[in-house]
Amino acid sequence: MMKRVFSCLLILFVVTACQPANPQADSVSEDKNGKSTQNQSQGETKGETQTTENEQTQSGTMPEVLPVIGSGEEPLKSVQNAGNYRNYYEIYVGSFYDSDGDGIGDLNGVRQKLNYIADMGFTGIWLMPIHPSDTYHKYDVKDYYAIDPAYGSMQDMEALIAECRSRDIALILDFVANHTADNHPWFTEAIRYLQKLPADAEPKAEECPYIDYYHFTKDSTKGKSYHLVDGSNWYYEGVFWGEMPDLNVDHPAVRQELKKIMDFWLDKGVSGFRLDAVKEFHSGKTAKNIEFLDWLVKTAKAKKEDVYLVGEAWSDFAEIAEYYKSGLPSLFNFALATGEGKIAQVVNGKQAKHTAKSFAEAMVKIDESFSANNPDYMDGLFVANHDNVRMANYFKGDLGKIKMAAGMYLTMTGVSFTYYGEEIGMVSSGTKDENKRTAMVWQKDGKGQTRNPENADEFEQTARPVAEQEQDPDSLIRYYQKALHLRQQIPALAAGKVSVVRAYHGDKAVVITKQLDPQEIIVVYNISAEPVEIDLTATDWADSKVIGYLTTKAAEVPTWQDRKLRLSPYSIVIMDRKE
Ligand code: CA
Repeated sequence: MMKRVFSCLLILFVVTACQPANPQADSVSEDKNGKSTQNQSQGETKGETQTTENEQTQSGTMPEVLPVIGSGEEPLKSVQNAGNYRNYYEIYVGSFYDSDGDGIGDLNGVRQKLNYIADMGFTGIWLMPIHPSDTYHKYDVKDYYAIDPAYGSMQDMEALIAECRSRDIALILDFVANHTADNHPWFTEAIRYLQKLPADAEPKAEECPYIDYYHFTKDSTKGKSYHLVDGSNWYYEGVFWGEMPDLNVDHPAVRQELKKIMDFWLDKGVSGFRLDAVKEFHSGKTAKNIEFLDWLVKTAKAKKEDVYLVGEAWSDFAEIAEYYKSGLPSLFNFALATGEGKIAQVVNGKQAKHTAKSFAEAMVKIDESFSANNPDYMDGLFVANHDNVRMANYFKGDLGKIKMAAGMYLTMTGVSFTYYGEEIGMVSSGTKDENKRTAMVWQKDGKGQTRNPENADEFEQTARPVAEQEQDPDSLIRYYQKALHLRQQIPALAAGKVSVVRAYHGDKAVVITKQLDPQEIIVVYNISAEPVEIDLTATDWADSKVIGYLTTKAAEVPTWQDRKLRLSPYSIVIMDRKE
């Protein structure tokens, strides 16, 4: 969704002070629990891998060696699958990877990068719209049953689906059900009919069924979301833009069309859909939107019981909670996201109330509010997407803070969504959409390199290429890889029920528990630029072991000694009970 600025981002909860300074860290000493707290830098050499990986996974700890990212070798089966609790990678296909040298990313390019995607620890892919469209972003669809020629063919799509399935990577499509393109045949036929209709005649559905597919009216006072049909006295609703006429989603024939589209793609083998603009089916009418979504969820589930659906309700926390009444498995949690969302606020710490403790309390509040409306909900976790300024911009390139923010959403309970390029710290420029969707930076030799969208501005992309970051144990890409793998290897991390144990150090550090029978873990956050020591002597967690950690530098290893846990600046430690 685009072309709308929503001002309703929220601030969640109130607590007390924190003002992080420079995140430069002292390394901490070697852990006596060495085996469970290894150093990521060991994983940089090609070829080593699988067996250690599997053994370590079974003992519930991080693998000694992370996979070589996209090496082209057989991808690792390192990532456990916790049902629909997946790590999704959001791809704007046109800017991702170009397989045929025309400078436009394509579906074969996505397929060629599946090793990269799998090795990173992503277990799902959300493709932004791929259907024929006259715009670069393709959110105005001309034909829901075809592939835009710039991206490839239906055969290419079938090959991508098949390979994703063989690797157990869920593939979800962007389903734009709120509106079509204004040159979709349904709309052009309706327009042609209305243009021929005598001025005083009423349209008849028997003559043109498509007049019921949209919201046509002769009322000229409906405001700026209504647009005049050229050469007639009729208007139509187009909430986002005149070239995106809104569908009349309550009309039985339109629902049949939407069902047919979902069935078509589910039959092709996709895992589900990301639902665009769910607040705009009936703009301003939440209850009616929920009723429509309830129909859509039931219809999709009737076709495929384990279908995965995630809705875009760009709104505040309370309204997102409300939308869970629709039965949607997931909604994007916009309350966490963007530079003004909870995660960025806590990491930037400009206001005293945004502490680590307030972040932990937000997790509990989220669970209480969302589960009250859908006990099976899975929070849609993200910080930036294609409509947002990129995350690196929120922290002015401060790598410690960028890693902390990534570590925070990637250790929350729910389904994670990472926008392509976030894992290498790509920057955007201003608020222009094209500048948020620029070419992925792969390597200096330019193989697979895409062009920026046509109307993107010239600006310096400061992110280091994937190929360079892969070789650096302190890089952002290696941090993301470790976080994504941890998330899949410790099921309680992605799917556990959360509660707050205790805050430390002026609420800049906090301990939470996560429970997923039979596992119960604690996650310890130090969201500050100083190292902290946490004494767990008087807690239920005095006899625990470290099973994973995320630090901003590979050489920083948390120490766990005499029931005291020492964490480096901006770090996260995960602990399990001793067997
Ligand atoms: Ca291409």
